[in-house]
Amino acid sequence: MQQYNKDEIKNSLTIDQVFEVVQSFGGDPIMKEDFFISKTICHNYFGEGSYKLYYYDNTKLFRCYTDCGDTFDIFELICKVQNLNGKFKQYYNNEGELLYREWQLFDAINFVIKFFNLSFDNSFSENNYNVLLDWKILSRYEDLSEKYESQIVELKIYDDNILKNLPTPRIIPWENEGISKEVMSHHNICYNPQSQAIIIPHYNINNQLIGIRERTLIKDEEKYGKYKPAILNYKMYNHPLGFNLYNLNNSKEQIKVIKKAIIGEGEKFCLMYASYFGEDNDISVACCGSSLTSYQIQLLLSLGVEEIIIAFDKQFKEIDDDEFKRWTKKLINIHKKYSSYATISFMFDKYNLLGYKDSPIDKDKNTFLELFNRRFSL
Ligand SMILES: [Zn+2]
Repeated sequence: MQQYNKDEIKNSLTIDQVFEVVQSFGGDPIMKEDFFISKTICHNYFGEGSYKLYYYDNTKLFRCYTDCGDTFDIFELICKVQNLNGKFKQYYNNEGELLYREWQLFDAINFVIKFFNLSFDNSFSENNYNVLLDWKILSRYEDLSEKYESQIVELKIYDDNILKNLPTPRIIPWENEGISKEVMSHHNICYNPQSQAIIIPHYNINNQLIGIRERTLIKDEEKYGKYKPAILNYKMYNHPLGFNLYNLNNSKEQIKVIKKAIIGEGEKFCLMYASYFGEDNDISVACCGSSLTSYQIQLLLSLGVEEIIIAFDKQFKEIDDDEFKRWTKKLINIHKKYSSYATISFMFDKYNLLGYKDSPIDKDKNTFLELFNRRFSL
């Protein structure tokens, strides 16, 4: 059996990887030089909280400057987030009864291993790696690991009846941006009168409802985040964004045939894509952030894709400014990480066709096609 050393794993994680984890938990992190800041997901629900959680790459530690007032590592953060959100681990006792318990260090280690596919990484293979684990963790591993394996990435399925009670008015601001009302209706976009927000259901590849996000239409609310998990009937419909691709339930068949997929950042990317090019031609997905996880790439690879086209928002003002350098470094990392599995190409606006922070689809259909035709790989 494979053994992992907690500190070695922790120290091997790059700041981008830790960023990815925090992103998948809805922390909306913002990268600074050798640290990043995030919403306080350690003690607030997904998408809430202020930017008082700091991660420092030199110490590999988080510090929460408000409620927790504490320093902790990535594993502890994962436990905090999961327990806060009531994601208790399932296991079976000797009688075969299903029981629940809180996330513990071991679970968090396993989560990280799975999240980054570390078991496929040679540096973590049994040969080079044989170091310790706390014996307690070790015995727990033997008891429970198999039962956990599949559970870690199995997302909670919500009852979609909750959507049937919500009104589906025409969403004029989105129609004005080019999203057709048919596409909205096929994606079950609806409206939450209580919070005055557009409701965006998220489905897994098998069309099961795994989360609901909402986009506020109240200008003042935007400072708390334009997008957040929906709360309906006092229940929060959150999900770890990094473990799914939005719209894959709609685009998977076309992706299988064409063997290409285009990844944008937000849900609207997919809605606009389908509006412009037709739902029968839809090969779009959204990663719901500007980070890709290996889990999301695996999802696409499982459909036999040969090319993955990255169509992220334009995250720089001018070629060669600091942001440009950080941004290209990030894209190069994506390429490095996944190009042995498929062609990774980029719709990258070096021609200044887009505005700052525009998605390649934001301007119009022709600009999108232009950038698509000029996409390149490294
Ligand atoms: Zn905290």
